[in-house]
This record gives sequence, C-alpha cells and structure tokens, in this order.
Amino acid sequence: MLSGNLGYPRIGRNREWKKALEGFWSGKLEEQAFHAELKAIRIRNLKAQQERGIDVIPVGDFTYYDHILDHAAMFGLIPERFGYAGGEVDLATYYAVARGSREAAASEMTKWFNTNYHYIVPELANARPALTGNRLLDAYREAKSELGIEGRPVLVGLYTFLKLSKGYAPEELDGWIDRLLPLYGQILRELAAEGVQWVQVDEPILATTLDDKDLARVARIYEALTREAPGVKLLLQTYFESVDAYQALTALPVHGIGLDFVHDGGRNLSAIREIGFPEDKVLGAGLIDGRAIWRADLQDKLVALTALREHVSADRIIVQPSSSLLHVPVSAAQEEALDPVLRGALAFADEKLEELALLAKAVRSGVEAVAAELAAAVGNRQALARSPSRHRSLVQAQMAKLASQPAARSDVFQVRQEAQRRRWNLPLLPTTTIGSFPQTPEVRGARQKWRKGEWSGERYEAFIREQISAWVDIQTELGLDVFVHGEFERNDMVEFFGEKLEGFAFTANGWVQSYGSRCVKPPIIYGDVEWSAPMTVAETVYAQSLTEKPMKGMLTGPITILNWSFVRDDKTREEVAYQIALALRGEVEALEAAGIGMIQVDEPAIREGLPLKREQWQPYLDWAVRAFRISTATVRNETQIHTHMCYSEFHEIIDAIGALDADVISIETSRSHGELISIFEAHTYDKGIGLGVYDIHSPRVPDVDEMGSMIDRALRVLDPAQFWINPDCGLKTRKYEETIASLRHMVQATDKAREKY
Ligand code: GLN
Ligand code: ZN
Repeated sequence: MLSGNLGYPRIGRNREWKKALEGFWSGKLEEQAFHAELKAIRIRNLKAQQERGIDVIPVGDFTYYDHILDHAAMFGLIPERFGYAGGEVDLATYYAVARGSREAAASEMTKWFNTNYHYIVPELANARPALTGNRLLDAYREAKSELGIEGRPVLVGLYTFLKLSKGYAPEELDGWIDRLLPLYGQILRELAAEGVQWVQVDEPILATTLDDKDLARVARIYEALTREAPGVKLLLQTYFESVDAYQALTALPVHGIGLDFVHDGGRNLSAIREIGFPEDKVLGAGLIDGRAIWRADLQDKLVALTALREHVSADRIIVQPSSSLLHVPVSAAQEEALDPVLRGALAFADEKLEELALLAKAVRSGVEAVAAELAAAVGNRQALARSPSRHRSLVQAQMAKLASQPAARSDVFQVRQEAQRRRWNLPLLPTTTIGSFPQTPEVRGARQKWRKGEWSGERYEAFIREQISAWVDIQTELGLDVFVHGEFERNDMVEFFGEKLEGFAFTANGWVQSYGSRCVKPPIIYGDVEWSAPMTVAETVYAQSLTEKPMKGMLTGPITILNWSFVRDDKTREEVAYQIALALRGEVEALEAAGIGMIQVDEPAIREGLPLKREQWQPYLDWAVRAFRISTATVRNETQIHTHMCYSEFHEIIDAIGALDADVISIETSRSHGELISIFEAHTYDKGIGLGVYDIHSPRVPDVDEMGSMIDRALRVLDPAQFWINPDCGLKTRKYEETIASLRHMVQATDKAREKY
C-alpha cells in the first residue's frame, strides 16, 4: 500500500508566496527574481512531501495565482478584452485576467465548491482553444531533475473545467467537449512520451448531483481520453462529497478512482460494500481530512482501511487526504504560543502527510512497527478530548435544556411590529447603515499600538470613544434615522467575537489561501463556546448616550462565526452552531438590558455553508435558521432584531431568510443587477427590508438620481411602509470623504422618495 498526496498549500510556511506575488505586482521584484523565488517555494513544497515519506507526490498543483486560471491559460482561453493574440500567455496577461488591468475588467471569481477558496471563472465566449504549453510536463521534469521525484501530474478534469466555465449555452456543452478533448489528449500523450505513469485527473464535479446526460458525457470523455493516450494511467479523483453514480464511475475505462471517505457521510464506503470495487483499478482512499486541522483518530483510520481491504487488495490502495491540502495551513510546528494540549491535537498539511506515511507503514510493516507513534497520536487526541475546555458545565447544561427552550419570539411579527412602531415612531423609509464606518489608517494604527503595548488600554478606549462620538455627530448632521457606533474597535467581524468568547483559539501562522495572494487566518473553535462577559455593550451604550436616535447593537451571527472558523470535529456543526447561538444570546440579552432597543445580528455567510448536494440543503438551512433564532428569540416585542446579508444569489434560500423572523433585514443588491428585487415579485415578504441602494465595493460616489432609481425599482414590488434605505454593506473599506458624500446623497434620495410615496 502506498501513501499519496493530492495537492500541497502554495503559500509557503511564512506566506513567502504571497509576499513574492505582491512584490512582483508592485514592481519591487523583477520578473527573473520572481520566477526564481517561486521556483524556490515550489521546490521546498516538494521536499516537504518527500521528506515525510510520501510515495506519490503531486506535481503541477503549484500556481502563480489559481489553478483553474492556469488551465484556462494552458488552453489559450483568454477573454478577447485582454488583447491576447494567441501563443504563450505572458505574466502581464495572466495577471490582468486575474486582477484586471487599466483597459479590461478582471474575470469573475467564485467559490471553489463548498470551500473558502475562490477560483477565476474561465470565459469561453468567442474563444478558440489551442494548447499554449504543457505546464504539467514542465512540473514533472522539474521535480524529477531537481529532487529525483517521480511526480504524479495533476490535471483539472475536462468536465469539471467546463462546468465551472461560463460564456456558453447549455446546448453548446457537447461542442466544447469536442473542442477540448484533443487538447487533453495531447497533454496526456506528451506526458506518456516522457515516461509519466500516472496522472491525477481532478473531477470534483462528480461529487455533486449529476443527471444521466452528465454521466453520458463523462463516459464519453474518459473513453476518448483512454483511447487517445493509452500510455498513461488516469486516477479519476473526486472529493468534498460522496459520488452518487458510484456504479457508473467505477465502470469508466480509467485505471484508478479517488474517493473522499471523510466528507461523504459514509456513502462511498457503503457503495464499495454493496457493489464492490473493480479488480482492475486502483483506489485512492481519501481517509485523512484535507479540510480540517485536527489530528486524525489513526486507530479509526486503520479500522477503515481494514474494511476497505475486504474489497480491494492493499497493493491497489493509495492512502491519501480526502482532498488537496490547499485548504489547511502549512505546519502546526510553528504554533508554539498555543496551549500545548491544543497544539498537540492539531494537524496542518505537514502533519497530515506524516499521518498518511504512518498509515501506509502500519499496513506494510504491521501495526507493531508504528505502535509508539500510534499511541502518541491517540494520546494527543484524548488529551484535548479530556480538557476542561471541552466540558464546560454551564454550556452543557444549557445545551441539554435547548429542546425545551424557545427558538421563536413570543409573538408573531404583526404584534411585534405594533409595539416597535409605538416605541420608535420612525419616518417612512427609515435610513440607516450596515455597521462599520471607515477603518482609516489612523484607526488601524491605534489598534496596532495598543496590541503592541505602546498604548495603554485606557488610551485606546479613549481613542475609540472619540471616533464613536465624531461619527455620532456625522450621522446627526447627515440626518440618518437609525445610528450605528461604527465598529472602530473591531479588526474582523469574526475574530473580534472569537477573542472574547471562551472556546476559541488563534494561531500565529495558520493561514490558508482564499483567492490570489489573499490569505485568511480562521479562528479555531476547539472547546465549548461560552459567553463570559459583555463584548459590545460598553461601546454601544456609550454611543447611545450621545444621541436620542436609536443606536443599533451590532453582532456577528452564529452561522457566520461557524462558517468562517475551523471547527472542532468531536461535535456536529449543528451542535457547535447552537453553542455559539447561546453565547450570542447572552450578548443580545445584555444589550437589551442596557437599554439598546435595536440589535443587528449579521449573517453574511449563511449561504456559504450550503452543502454540495441539493437534498442536504434543507436540513442545513433548518438548523442554521434555528441557531439564528436561538440567539435572537428571547428579546421583548418592542426590541427590534435586524439582520444583514451580502453576496447576492438569495433566490434559492429566500424561504430560509423569511424563517429567520428578523424584524428588519438588509441585503446587498447592487451586484445582483436587479435580480434580487425581482424575487419579491414572486414572493411576499412582509417584514422590514432594506435592499442596498448603492454598491460599497467601489470608491465611486453615486449621485442622488441613481440611488433614487434604485429606490423606485424596489418600491415597484415592495411596500414603502416596510422599506428601509441603506447601503449594500458595511463601510469599513471606504474612505472618509467617499462615505460622507455617498450617505449625503442617500439621505437626499430618501427625502425625494418620501415626497413621492
Ligand atoms: N456589520 C458588518 C459591517 O458593517 C457587516 C459586514 C458584512 O456583512 N460582511 O462591517
Ligand atoms: Zn455585508
């Protein structure tokens, strides 16, 4: 039995990759030096896998930005607007597609399946594909000549590539398959001629819901490719879910199938048990979680391997991660500042490779040969399992009572609406903002100084109060109706709460790539989540003390905190969501008790958690909605609960949005180009709603009429009595002057609208 890997993080131990890219873009790093630096990182990445004893090492998974863009460039699929004339794609063109140039807007970027990674969407309209090079061949040669590694090139499968592309009509799909097949065939033939044995062909699309037409196309593709390039063996790799069409996939004429045995809900193993596994194929057994950061229960994994071996002989199994390790940080070895019990239970990419090598060794040489390492691994997991942080008695008592507790407000919306109307007496079309005001260099600088200890806590707090007070004055002068304090004390909407709640930890270097050179460092939810003290009350109450206008309390919702963190794996995501919800309920109640009468609980990431398979959407949405309601349901009728969401595409989850039962919701609209408004033609929505009247992602200041027409458009389908006026999202990334000018126009547009409606 061999160990294998499917992909290694590109970013380097200390994000040297990010620094190199940004250095090159800013002109600080010359092209030659840039190539040399990226090569050095690539070689280090290969070495890290080699040194850990991985038998099958992927090559070609490295990138200068994004692997889907790499494939588009390899096929010469560069949109017309970049003035590309065929042939090799130079760096300037490559980065123009990724990031935009003075002449042309960047290609769209979107989420890679259900992960937090974002790829560049290939545009096929008017494109004529032609091979511009063979980056897999280059990568294979480099690994061989530099390190003597017999690498396994990684190719994004033809069907996944096309399904993720845009710019063609559904009926043109078969034509596109015909156009790309010769290119794939040539790449594979060149690899075969070089002596490459195996190619990993990533087809994660096979883990989504497919129909018979899809399956027929997949069969056509792989029959053609094995015919075109008989000299090379294909490992057809799936991940992130089970494969629905197990029988059809295992019947394809490829030499190996890679399956995810971690995120498949047990369905892949059941399929093997029921149907068997073909005797002429290799099984890529994805047993180590490629997406979570925890050490595996290796005993458990050995049991799973034994079960697989009843159906597949060991010499036909490659034990591997469930997916590329792109989605986890590089190495936990550097996290010296963490509690040793927590650190001992962490496995980032490098530690996962060690686990894979260990599993392979256990099968090859017997469990005795690795007894000490196994015992240590088990001990590490158990130490965290026993840790008091995972056994907070108050949390567990609350969780036990949860079923008998309200997850609904005591009265229906119509009754609450009356109480709230009486309390607030707001004008028609009330104006407000989404929470944050500009995080100027001054604000960020102050936080730095405080974090470094250069400023005392008192000094920093005084500074924050000055900001709040200045912006209360600005909101007064602008004539807004519902105020916010501005979130000046917050770095990031999840990290801020994570740092104040029990059960969270923060790494020094746990970065993962989100898109391009942008990396994120998700908090780790490792223990029971508990509210211990008010987190936002002081700032909110201070802000409220400066004005008669209602001041919205501002919290991040349970699902957003969950979806933007690494989450413990000994509890279901649903349970962890409820723990966070209960903790937030503590804060909601504290705000209410302190006299704050409007509380906004943001859930921008609710859509991101949707499972890959449609049939699992409803159960997820049910518990996500329940978590939101747990955190907001205990307030009095006259306390108004707001929520906020961004990132368009809400039509599929509009019922869940209604089920949140928030008194007021604000939704980003500009980037959906009116699509969102049309949802409300078909759907009656009776609660308060603000559809963003201007895009906050651009420095442009829209004029009064432009916002006026956004308002008019919305009021063609929504009742003026329920409509709120607000920007699309928080204003933290905008400059001071832009913000004030835009909000002034927003208030003027509202005044005009009030005369009309
Ligand atoms: N209240 C947050 C802010 O204004 C909301 C951010 C978001 O939706 N992503 O910054
Ligand atoms: Zn938003």
